[in-house]
Amino acid sequence: MVSERILIVDDDLQVRYTCAQMLRKYNYHVDEIDNGFDALNKLRTEQYNLVITDLKMNKVDGLELIKKSKEIFSDLPFILITAYGTMDTAIQALRLGVYDFIIKPFTMDEFITTVNRCIEFHKLKQETLSLKETAALYELLHSVEKHKIEKEVLQKILEKALELISGNSGSIMLFNEDTNKLELVTHIGLKEQITREVSPGERVSGYVFNQREPMIINGELTNYPQFKYIESRPEIVSSISIPLISGNKVVGVMNINRIKPSAYKFTDIELNKIHFFISYVTNVIIQCQLYKKLINLDKLKSEFIANVNHELKTPLMVILGAIKLYDESNDAEREKLYVLLKKNVERMNLLITELLDYSNIETGKMVYKFKRVKLNNYIKKVVNEYKPKFASKKIEFKIHIPDTPIFINADIKRIQQCISNLLSNAIKFTKENGKVELTVEKSQDNVIISVEDNGKGIHKSEHNKIFDRFYQVDGSPTREHSGLGLGLTITKSIIESHNGKIWVESDLGHGSKFTISLPLDKAQKGE
Ligand code: ADP
Repeated sequence: MVSERILIVDDDLQVRYTCAQMLRKYNYHVDEIDNGFDALNKLRTEQYNLVITDLKMNKVDGLELIKKSKEIFSDLPFILITAYGTMDTAIQALRLGVYDFIIKPFTMDEFITTVNRCIEFHKLKQETLSLKETAALYELLHSVEKHKIEKEVLQKILEKALELISGNSGSIMLFNEDTNKLELVTHIGLKEQITREVSPGERVSGYVFNQREPMIINGELTNYPQFKYIESRPEIVSSISIPLISGNKVVGVMNINRIKPSAYKFTDIELNKIHFFISYVTNVIIQCQLYKKLINLDKLKSEFIANVNHELKTPLMVILGAIKLYDESNDAEREKLYVLLKKNVERMNLLITELLDYSNIETGKMVYKFKRVKLNNYIKKVVNEYKPKFASKKIEFKIHIPDTPIFINADIKRIQQCISNLLSNAIKFTKENGKVELTVEKSQDNVIISVEDNGKGIHKSEHNKIFDRFYQVDGSPTREHSGLGLGLTITKSIIESHNGKIWVESDLGHGSKFTISLPLDKAQKGE
């Protein structure tokens, strides 16, 4: 347990020492000062729960010390020790907000009772204040629409946190699972050029995020070995960084600073004070994030249904039209109609197969027939099917498949389907005269198959999402490219069922590289 901190200010060494020792026996942390001037300076750099001061002192007397301190720390409770128990002093002291006064000479019992009472009273007052603030915040959080969490609510949360422990600048960073980065979502009192994004482990926020423990930082960052290479912000006197944790999930980090001219350092007392508040708001943040995800999924589903409708109706319309025209057409026309029919029936077949595959994956009914196979020729077969498609879009198609045999244990039709999915996306998202390269390489334990294009590319924030069901970077009904947003979901599931991995490297406007890694069949490892 953190002990309460008391400052005793008295120029009478004997009285001061006796009182301090007595309080220490009661487990209080006590600092002693013999004049009002130094006491004021001490109060500026450290936090106390109570100040006990003598009235009559040189330089700055007790009443003046109380007056000056109250201008800065209005909440700080004082007990005045006085030998001049006149009504005048008592009234002045009470007007200044002194909790109580003790008249010399006093017994130690009297002294301790007054101190304990004051500390208890102050604690209760603080708790009532915290409860009031929390209740106000609760009302606020429940009155706003949950999906607005990022902007309005987080700003209010930060404001409250700063108020609660007298911080004068701060920020909230939330972890973005799509980019694996902590992103700045709101800040108060900080310069515009502050760091907006850090990786876990990076800088103070990233460190606290990884450690899952709050931290008080006083003075230069270079004093801390883990932050030796981070440039300090000279205006910050003291700061608290707290991970936002709920259960075993860390959703972000809150930073609270005291900046100059405040010279007042954060202590464990304030850290404890903010703890309850933080755990409450973290739960609310998580609830809001879940709500947002649900809304997004709902939107994706609606788009998906509209897309299925559109994707199936288009070839169907062509098929019905072609059948109608067929009877009245001559041989040359019939040949053209036949090509059209074949293409659109194939398109429908592909779409329906994709839907069925997805449904089987979702319900756990996908069946795999594993067999030891030599991969090389199976990939060449897929490649040969695709050569004319690339040629007709004038896309240069480069192929690197080694001659050394590559054996894997797989349902080879499914692996071919995955490669076909990647190639078909590469054609779809690469413009005419572009370039696509398929490379197959053998490493010690795996075969690595990559499909690289110089097409439109994918923004980093979308990299995880594109493997999610129904997700398309542009899923709007007016989108340029066809598709159901299931290809990569199915591909990932197939690859993972083969104990393999799939990942993407890409950036918007700079092409994409999809890579599949599959374990080699044990019989040939180290060949
Ligand atoms: P579909 O292609 O049917 O929309 P996928 O699951 O195969 O569904 O792909 C999901 C999304 O990922 C695509 O809609 C597209 O936005 C993006 N994507 C996939 N491959 C590429 C690529 N090679 N280049 C750019 N974007 C791609």
